[in-house]
Amino acid sequence: MTDDSITKPDFIREIIADDLASGKHATIITRFPPEPNGYLHIGHAKSICLNFGIALENRSVAAKCHLRFDDTNPEKEESEYVESIKQDVTWLGFDWGDNLYFASDYFQFFYDCAVQLIKDGKAYVDDDSAEEMRVKRGNLTTPGSRSACAERGVEENLALFERMRAGDFKEGECVLRARIDMAAANMNLRDPVLYRIMHAHHHNTGGSWCIYPMYDFAHPLEDALEHVTHSLCTLEFENHRPLYDWFIENCPVPSRPRQIEFARLNLTYTVMSKRKLLQLVQEGLVTGWDDPRLPTISGLRRRGYPTAAIRDFCKRIGITKFNSTTDVALLEFEVRDILNREAPRRMAVLDPLKVLLENRADEALAHADVPNHPQNPEMGARVIPFGPEIWIEREDFMEDPPKKFHRLGPERHVRLRGGPIIRCVSFEKDDDGIITLIRAEILPGTVGSDAPEGVQCKAAIHWVDAASGVDAEVRLYDRLFSVENPDAAEAGFTSVLNPDSLKTIRAKIEPALAGAEAGFSCQFERVGYFVADSKDHQPGVKPVFNRTVALKDSWGKQSGR
Ligand code: ATP
Ligand code: MG
Repeated sequence: MTDDSITKPDFIREIIADDLASGKHATIITRFPPEPNGYLHIGHAKSICLNFGIALENRSVAAKCHLRFDDTNPEKEESEYVESIKQDVTWLGFDWGDNLYFASDYFQFFYDCAVQLIKDGKAYVDDDSAEEMRVKRGNLTTPGSRSACAERGVEENLALFERMRAGDFKEGECVLRARIDMAAANMNLRDPVLYRIMHAHHHNTGGSWCIYPMYDFAHPLEDALEHVTHSLCTLEFENHRPLYDWFIENCPVPSRPRQIEFARLNLTYTVMSKRKLLQLVQEGLVTGWDDPRLPTISGLRRRGYPTAAIRDFCKRIGITKFNSTTDVALLEFEVRDILNREAPRRMAVLDPLKVLLENRADEALAHADVPNHPQNPEMGARVIPFGPEIWIEREDFMEDPPKKFHRLGPERHVRLRGGPIIRCVSFEKDDDGIITLIRAEILPGTVGSDAPEGVQCKAAIHWVDAASGVDAEVRLYDRLFSVENPDAAEAGFTSVLNPDSLKTIRAKIEPALAGAEAGFSCQFERVGYFVADSKDHQPGVKPVFNRTVALKDSWGKQSGR
């Protein structure tokens, strides 16, 4: 369950509430319009939570949120991306119902709108090269000048546009432009291109078209055709809004959507643009779009991030008009917050050191009864085999411990989680001085009861029974980049990859964990939160666990926060 108490009213929700109250709209339609040219990332989750969230909050007036694939560019789009996007939206807990759309289904409508603009003298076919167009566009201080082609008459433009569609021209030979204002202060209004020629195969329409509409032209028309009431987009599109409105004003559209901009999500230690994520995937710097170090939804899912943590995070950051960068630690905080409450506890030893329990035969203990959650008795307990040899974490033993160290050391006591108190009797080292074995004895009668008089025992440590414990591959993921703002790195973002973003180790895990289903999420007691990997974990055959997040924010400590 996500935390409803976090929801903040924001300026977009206020506008929507006003539009309903004033009767301007009887219902609300929003849309999430991804271009299927990559996998979704956590920034998209912000937009998804906003658009689908508004629809859910206004279900009393039958509000809807459309999932629309903005697939007007044939060159970079693939069906694989369409499927992954649907899966991610669903995983985030949202449902588009019957409202699944593809902008490519509207190609004829865009074309008809363009023809209308030509007939109204508001569009012309231009033969200028891209370079000539760039020069004539002028700049912020110099007005542009129109191409000679703008003098063409309606009939000539109609005929040329028809020939563009028929495939009579090569790519780049001509384009269709809107006739707006070559002196406009807003450069977007200086006769923007509406259509270009691309002899390319489209994933939906195949070879039916060889002219494709530009994003700025298609997007408002898509919204209007779907009767979207509020078209929510990120701030970069603010100065495209006059153009958006011009198209709505001048094309034969059935409705008038209102574009409202909000700040995009930026995260520290993360790159978010799909182009950069694609580069990481293509150059093999990560293992794929769902690499658990990526900020993709599929990566975060594989990393073990709960849906609720992402939704709570999106609520907590809220919706504003100001660009800023959010500390990734806040996202990790939400993940810990949910998992601390909901994840069952299990035991695993990542850096094993063997302990021989010498008086084990005297004790009738054959198993330990360990609670599944320290604060939640409803989660029950489990029975773990407990034999004469166990593994403990190497760092839980110190040959010469300082005063504040409460775990195991020579002649010291410590409790085994869910089991008895033990005392270290002796230890062995190899030729390099590395400790290889601890010998300890069990204090009789200490399971589930306090330390006897005179025995100091201030800590409980986790352990794994050596006979029944299982070897597992454990992937210790950390941040992919070692600097806060990888986009600003002089030598490029790939030059600041964190060399320690993945460490793969062999660990010892309690027997039941080996049989866990892929996707099973738990806390390895005292170590961190882990999830059975969705791709490589094979229950009972080959256990593979990913670290979702460490128990504490070690980065915050490092930078003195
Ligand atoms: P990118 O810049 O990462 O390539 P994009 O904006 O090109 O992303 P689209 O598929 O066009 O990706 O985006 C779909 C929707 O998601 C758009 O409405 C866009 O505004 C929104 N969106 C994309 N990135 C973010 C972000 N970082 N924060 C909030 N919303 C975002
Ligand atoms: Mg885009």
